[in-house]
Amino acid sequence: MSKKDVTKVVLDESDIPKQWYNILADMPNKPAPYFSSKTGKPVTLDELQAIFPMELIQQENSQERWIDIPEEVREMYRQWRPSPLYRARALEKHLGTPARIYYKYEGTNATGSHKLNTSLPQAYYNKIAGIKRLSTETGAGQWGSALSLACNHFGLECTVYMVKVSYEQKPYRRSFMKTFGAQVYASPTNLTSSGRAILEKDPDCTGSLGIAISEAVEDAATHDDTNYALGSVLNHVCLHQTIIGLEAKKQLEYLDEYPDVVFACCGGGSNFAGIAFPFLMDKFKGTKVRAVAVEPTACPTLTKGVYAYDYSDTGKIGPLAKMYTVGHDFVPAGIHAGGLRYHGVSPIVSQLYEDKLIEAKAYGQSSVFEAAVIFARTEGIVPAPESSHAIRAAIDEALLCKESGEAKVILFNLSGHGYFDMAAYDNYFSGKLSDVDYSEEEIARSMKNLPKVD
Ligand SMILES: *Cc1c(COP(=O)(O)O)cnc(C)c1O
Repeated sequence: MSKKDVTKVVLDESDIPKQWYNILADMPNKPAPYFSSKTGKPVTLDELQAIFPMELIQQENSQERWIDIPEEVREMYRQWRPSPLYRARALEKHLGTPARIYYKYEGTNATGSHKLNTSLPQAYYNKIAGIKRLSTETGAGQWGSALSLACNHFGLECTVYMVKVSYEQKPYRRSFMKTFGAQVYASPTNLTSSGRAILEKDPDCTGSLGIAISEAVEDAATHDDTNYALGSVLNHVCLHQTIIGLEAKKQLEYLDEYPDVVFACCGGGSNFAGIAFPFLMDKFKGTKVRAVAVEPTACPTLTKGVYAYDYSDTGKIGPLAKMYTVGHDFVPAGIHAGGLRYHGVSPIVSQLYEDKLIEAKAYGQSSVFEAAVIFARTEGIVPAPESSHAIRAAIDEALLCKESGEAKVILFNLSGHGYFDMAAYDNYFSGKLSDVDYSEEEIARSMKNLPKVD
């Protein structure tokens, strides 16, 4: 078959990358260091070691361009990697665009999203450091699912603090985690002092990601045999996700293609990092490629936030990070892309945005679901509401190409499937989704409580 006719590129297992790409080695300006929320000084090794294993702390700061993927992790990657790269032929035809649209599909593993790419190495490094249990938070449930599977595989216990409103609304995610042996609690709980403090003030509190993070970090910090695992934002998480872009590059190379523009949705920034960083590596050397992070207007971290130090959680327990933020007090509206509701974004992604090496765009949820349905009906995959932000942006770019007649190559990351999110689709079909847009004043109000760091 001619390469021009190919719809799907699936590489051989032996093509799974042997190393992750560490963008810290090549960035013109490095992200700012973490500060301790307790001391107001740069975070110490001791503070980090209370919740993370040494190997991950080293990756967080490493300046090595390539970092070896442990064989035990690659062995698990083989279950679904290399993930397929598709040419969106039916979507192109539907849009009548001269653009060639490609997408990398990260939903083919058991947990249905890209998050398993990092939960496996995180569980592995904790296991070899002698840790017995990992604690974490989950909002929409994808991260909790991914960590549960990874902990089960490497023989660790897993405790998940699940935002109460999701715990009640997404029972199947909860059952999924239990299937893999995790303990799942509706956060806020009365098991931690940060949870109890919230419940004292508001016994009916439905929780938030910020509260759940405080509980999970406190759990890890107060138990010697327990560490904490985060599913996005941190440098080592972005590092593990680069396997997405490294594979996509090989797959496009096979087709003699190179993208003009790369889109990914952006919550904490890890799947965007995953697909975009390996292409930015070329951009640092002069290749022209645009990378665009797509976020919801309901949580407009890059497009309306400020670049400043902020707390990583409501209880102000975790370290302070310099990042684009809409403020740790910001409570985004209850939109259906639960994975995109964090108040901050990866410090690396933030620095790249500040340096204008990447772009950002925001969409309201009704136009995102419209794109999701077009995609489902053409390509035959029901996309996660989060991923559908990238689809929206890719469709709009393809429509611009239709106007200009340019045959651009568009690549986007389909970070996960939406088969646990059908209730959200139901709401869309019955006209119950509202669009949320925040004014500059509303955002400015939630910036009042940013910490002072010098
Ligand atoms: C968690 C999640 C996201 C958002 O997280 P990032 O760190 O920004 O990638 C996006 N898509 C899916 C399917 C998710 O589960």
